[in-house]
Amino acid sequence: MKIAIISDIHSNLEALEACFAEIDRERADDIVCLGDMIGYGADPNPCVERIRGRTPHVVAGNHDFAVIGHTPTEYFNLDALTAVIWTRGELSPENRGYLATLPLVLELGGALFVHASPSRPADWNYVRTLREAKHELAAFNQRLCFIGHSHFPEFFIERAGEVVREAPPEMTLRPGERALVNVGSVGQPRDGNPRASFALYDTDAGRVEIRRVAYNVERVRDRILDTDLPASAARRLAWGL
Ligand code: ZN
Repeated sequence: MKIAIISDIHSNLEALEACFAEIDRERADDIVCLGDMIGYGADPNPCVERIRGRTPHVVAGNHDFAVIGHTPTEYFNLDALTAVIWTRGELSPENRGYLATLPLVLELGGALFVHASPSRPADWNYVRTLREAKHELAAFNQRLCFIGHSHFPEFFIERAGEVVREAPPEMTLRPGERALVNVGSVGQPRDGNPRASFALYDTDAGRVEIRRVAYNVERVRDRILDTDLPASAARRLAWGL
């Protein structure tokens, strides 16, 4: 089975459509969304509706829950908070109701899926260091766990009692190995590469690939600049930061 995993779309409809087109070309059997469908971008309702129409496998991100008041926003920086408040005014009652139904974790194809961290999904902790990855790998039993949240695609592999970091684009698990995979961000990459990021997981081969897809960044930037959203959310898209 081939599963496509998308995360951190952040109301970027152009990037989302480009990823769905690539997922269709790859003939993925299933799609999982790791949350943060909204926040920062100009198209919150279409993004939620497109994802909802494509897959029942969706977990909540911190922005999804912040917009509907399920998660506190004290730790949000000013731009993120401004985007939360703007999105709150835009989101349809139906989409708000849908976001409220989302779980924090789900399991599919022998893997675990969560927005931020498997050890404490509701705390929205980042997993960036080997030490943090080791702690997280001890917190779940599945062979693989897919996360987003940092917008930085990378592989943390548990191999012979050690945890090692491997850079994308791909990794294959050998017998006895486990991994924590950050799939990167569809709508706001922060690894210096402006192309949309998502993962393809081949469950039989134990193989994961990070795929990057170009989309019309200028159009998305101009759409954001036409709103009262923070301009920083528009400018950073071209830099991938
Ligand atoms: Zn995010």
